[in-house]
Amino acid sequence: EAKNKGRNSYRFFTKNDNAEAHKRLTLQNALRYALEREELFLCYQPLLETNTKNIMGVEALIRWQHPSFGMISPAEFIPLAEESGLIIPIGEWVLETACRQSHHWQQQGFTPLLMSVNLSVRQFNQPDLIDRIIKVLQRTDLSPNWLKLEITESLAMNCATKTVQTLKILKSLGIHLAIDDFGTGYSSLSYLKQFNLDILKIDRSFVADISTENDITLVTSIIKMAHGLNMQVVAEGVETEQQFDLLRANGCDYVQGFYFYKPLVEKDITKLLAQQESGQLINVSSASFF
Ligand code: C2E
Ligand code: MG
Ligand code: MG
Ligand code: MG
Repeated sequence: EAKNKGRNSYRFFTKNDNAEAHKRLTLQNALRYALEREELFLCYQPLLETNTKNIMGVEALIRWQHPSFGMISPAEFIPLAEESGLIIPIGEWVLETACRQSHHWQQQGFTPLLMSVNLSVRQFNQPDLIDRIIKVLQRTDLSPNWLKLEITESLAMNCATKTVQTLKILKSLGIHLAIDDFGTGYSSLSYLKQFNLDILKIDRSFVADISTENDITLVTSIIKMAHGLNMQVVAEGVETEQQFDLLRANGCDYVQGFYFYKPLVEKDITKLLAQQESGQLINVSSASFF
């Protein structure tokens, strides 16, 4: 039934819808225990300032290492966690782990990093979201100024009035806010203006195609619009020098992608930070990644 295709991927045979449904059920059941069995962990992918190539922050990205299925991609299990409601405890665990880690790096003496955490729709819509976030910040002793929450366009479009209100409170606490995967959803530009976000992340599908004339126009327009709305821009999925050069030439503020670093485990980020502080950072890392 199942087949393990090596370290980074896990695929069931998907001959028909039955197999598809079975796969979902199996994963959903396994996910129930993933947290308590400590099968989940976080990787951190650096975000670099375009001009200096300094690491200014990291994005926390969840990983699930199942004992027999192997590594399962968040693209596969986050939607399942959303459906079942498991995203609530899992999301809270991510937030707390990431905040604690960020505070820990600060305690080790590194220049503070902006810690980005992805928030799912269901998490965002919890009535006590603000309270939970404040409590996590208190427990982990992290200043809200070092936390950035990434929300998606679909979330943003759900219930505009409530969303605007929640975002306002988060912002008043000093938390940074980003819209993730920009360009893939159904953002209304008027909402974008109301949301008053700090950062816009251009989806990697636009970055991937940036070599064609039309896509350069698209990306540069997004950057200009974001700046016009007082947002800074992160390009995600930067994989080549050419992409980086084009983004830099067009005023993109930050970059994130395999060209620089893949998502790394804690100890590799610690090494990177130590190298950066001592001015010995080599730009493309051979450290272990997931
Ligand atoms: P995302 O938030 O847009 O995260 C960026 C994704 O792009 C990550 O995939 C990252 O590994 C990948 N990426 C970064 N640079 C490159 C590149 O140069 N090339 C390519 N091909 N990919 C690149 P990942 O870690 O598999 O996560 C996928 C998605 O799963 C995330 O997209 C996010 O939506 C979701 N996710 C991950 N962790 C969490 C979490 O803790 N909570 C929630 N709610 N969602 C999460
Ligand atoms: Mg993200
Ligand atoms: Mg993204
Ligand atoms: Mg994405």
